[in-house]
Amino acid sequence: MGSGPGSSAACIFCDIAEHRASAHIVYEDASTVAFLDLFPYTRGHLLVIPKRHGARITELPFDDQIALVRTLDEICRRVERLTSDYHVSLNAGAKAGQVVFHVHLHVIPRYTEENPFLGPGRNRLRDDDARELLRELSAG
Ligand code: 5GP
Ligand code: ZN
Repeated sequence: MGSGPGSSAACIFCDIAEHRASAHIVYEDASTVAFLDLFPYTRGHLLVIPKRHGARITELPFDDQIALVRTLDEICRRVERLTSDYHVSLNAGAKAGQVVFHVHLHVIPRYTEENPFLGPGRNRLRDDDARELLRELSAG
């Protein structure tokens, strides 16, 4: 159940933002969190979310939108330790592929020109891979 300000009941990303559900968190501040996607398209696939619940970007107060982009910048800088190339994407609405209805930006590293979105199903993130990525993506 969501309980914090602006949180929503039965939202997995509210649960992660409020530390009721576990996630491999690489960055957190007063209004945003960034963590590893549980079913990454590529190594280091991250999600950047506002702590405040909103299904889509246009439901968020402007301050939260700004905070989200500030955190996106921080995360992109860290991803550039892994590779120079990556996608930043946002799915808004079911027809656009949105599955979790709490705003999130995907940051998806690219290591080769092989299309990661067309291949076989994604594998669940392994704990040992996650720990290594957290070291590589940590602050500093
Ligand atoms: P969407 O399709 O809504 O843009 O993407 C949702 C993303 O959230 C997917 O890439 C999916 O793998 C990821 N995801 C769904 N549930 C969880 C979860 O409980 N933990 C984490 N870390 N990622 C999740
Ligand atoms: Zn939520």
